[in-house]
Amino acid sequence: MSKSYVTGFGRIGEQRELKFALEAYWAGKSDFASVENVAKELRKRHWQYQKDAGIDFISVGDFSYYDIMLDHSIAFGAIPARFAGLSGEELYFSMCRGNKGAVAMEMTKWFNTNYHYIVPELNASTSFKLDASKYINEYKEAKALGINAKLNLIGPFTYLALSKTNDGSDAFSHLDALVSVYCELISEIAKLDDEVVIQLDEPIFVTDRASDLAPRLKGVYDKICAAASNAKIIFMTYFEKAPEATEQIVKTGVWAVGLDLVHNSECQRPSIKLIKDANKVLFAGIINGRNIWVADLEERKAKVGRLLDQIESDRLYIGTSCSLLHVPFTLKYEENLAIKEWLSFAVEKLDEIVILTAFANGKELCARCSEIYEKNKIAIANRKTSSLVNDAAVQERVKNLSKFERETPFSERIKVQHKLFNLPSLPTTTIGSFPQTAELRAVRNAFKKGEIDKAKYESEIKKYIDDCVAFQESIGLDVLVHGEPERNDMVEYFGEQLKGYAFSKNGWVQSYGSRCVKPPLLFGDVSRPNPMTVDWITYAQSKTKKIMKGMLTGPVTIMNWSFVRDDMPRSEVVKQLALCIYDEINDLQKAGIKIIQVDEAAFKEGYPLRKENIGDYESFAVNSFKLSVSCAEAKTQIHTHMCYSEFNDIIKTIEAMDADVISIETARSGNELLKIFKSVGYKQEVGPGVYDIHSPRVPSVSEIEEQIKALLEVLPKEQLWINPDCGLKTRKWEEVKPSLENMVKAVIASR
Ligand code: ZN
Repeated sequence: MSKSYVTGFGRIGEQRELKFALEAYWAGKSDFASVENVAKELRKRHWQYQKDAGIDFISVGDFSYYDIMLDHSIAFGAIPARFAGLSGEELYFSMCRGNKGAVAMEMTKWFNTNYHYIVPELNASTSFKLDASKYINEYKEAKALGINAKLNLIGPFTYLALSKTNDGSDAFSHLDALVSVYCELISEIAKLDDEVVIQLDEPIFVTDRASDLAPRLKGVYDKICAAASNAKIIFMTYFEKAPEATEQIVKTGVWAVGLDLVHNSECQRPSIKLIKDANKVLFAGIINGRNIWVADLEERKAKVGRLLDQIESDRLYIGTSCSLLHVPFTLKYEENLAIKEWLSFAVEKLDEIVILTAFANGKELCARCSEIYEKNKIAIANRKTSSLVNDAAVQERVKNLSKFERETPFSERIKVQHKLFNLPSLPTTTIGSFPQTAELRAVRNAFKKGEIDKAKYESEIKKYIDDCVAFQESIGLDVLVHGEPERNDMVEYFGEQLKGYAFSKNGWVQSYGSRCVKPPLLFGDVSRPNPMTVDWITYAQSKTKKIMKGMLTGPVTIMNWSFVRDDMPRSEVVKQLALCIYDEINDLQKAGIKIIQVDEAAFKEGYPLRKENIGDYESFAVNSFKLSVSCAEAKTQIHTHMCYSEFNDIIKTIEAMDADVISIETARSGNELLKIFKSVGYKQEVGPGVYDIHSPRVPSVSEIEEQIKALLEVLPKEQLWINPDCGLKTRKWEEVKPSLENMVKAVIASR
């Protein structure tokens, strides 16, 4: 018999209950016991969802107050010295959020998702000591509720590979010691039941690190599998193919191997054969855990059929391609969403899994599942032909594209621009946003809810713009911005004005800790019915004689921060988005806007996990950026902005984007980053951030002067702009004002 499973489930709660409980506790408005109560309720609810749907292997241990990697560090006693002496929740939240005396541990992106984990900190003297309480408690709690638990852990290779050391030592020098702790943990869990199922997530093996790590798999997993005779071990991978690991892991005593059969699925065929030949169980991730569209159940059924040709049903278990952490919880709250029937959030995906498992077993569907199945066929058919999705004009326009770049080369454009703008050397500007005050948010919300009318809303926004302009003039900035007061979010703002986009009411996904995002839903051919920014920018320009910079989000970033339709390759979707930005740039320049910034904050996020796929991504990403600005005349200066401090691998790609000016995040890395630009002979202009906006600290004039001096050691004056690191929306006015004032003073002293 085939069985069903879920790789992992979300935890923040469908109404973001955990977020609100945590934030109330952090603000001192409630005690930790009330957070624990909410947590317990959420675990119960999430298990119950899985049980009610009929899932055989239900995820336990995937709950977290903040992050699961952090939970592992606590369980292993990998506590950085600066948190010594703390315990319980005080220790836990100090590690992830910092406290008076100790900075928080670093946080970074989980593979190519928008989820962030807390990076384990190790050094040569780290020693591990098991505290299994979280896992034991959650397992017992599930068991008491009659849940058939599958305990989820991050595997030792992935834990170490994602760690950092602060003394230059090799994290993997701890492998043996860490494996002993895993064995201890597994044997503790094994005491709780006649038979326990333990899933070890090893997504590191879907990256290029697989080739050097895979040879060490057998030794480690032999030990892990020997830790308890009644523990069945699942070696779980997701997000990409894992051939190197599969080849080794099937030689060990693991019971099952989990593969992502959604992403790069064809390449997994040889792995499936290895799993079958070694008499292992295949955990086949065939329901997409990264996207929110209904699965085409007919097509998935055929896929199950093909899998059954490769491996018998007893050893084909059916589930999600990765944890459902990456999608919203439930469609229950989406009352007025036109595209609702095409969507499937975490709870709805459970039914899809159960239906496919029934197919694998040749079983009749229950009445409820038959109904879902019938509706699914209709939804899939509608989606294919719907006029909401298909826009012949857009398709035609993309097909007939012939011009992908600007007409004039940079070397000539820049001369035209210099002459026309007549800016001083080391021109100063900012990245776009000014502080998003509580009053500003209140104005936008009131307008959205219809509590104030359009005229009132616009006059409030204009007032903010007036203040921004006046302030920038008063301190003598050269190129001004309007401050982005009308924008809630740099992607949502544009998505809301594009045809082909929808917005969920409650489609929250955890980004880190208590922070959630609600990615817009790109469901159809995208076009821009009306100008999106022209009125605000031209209003702002009318208030000053200086140059007002227009501010747009680039096509790659809009795509990477949305849930994107799965019925068209991303390389095509992004072209449509590029044309929307193209139209906007055209209108801005017609309206007399001389400088336009096209932000690509999420350009790097879209990078594939395997090197072999990077070339394709880079080429469509660069080409769509270039397409989006290709209407800019020589006299229109195109800026772009990227919030990274790591350009080593992608500098050639950045250069190929051919922006006239790029602003980047360098404040924390001195002039090191700039050297990369120099070493490749980068010709375009660069605005390296001269101070860190992520901190409330006000930089002094002399400190910024020093920074400018360091930059001038690398690149000539003629090539440099001076600006902060990133947008200022998260800062307060009392920080922004003196900081920018000091920045301008430092520039004047350096000119
Ligand atoms: Zn930025």
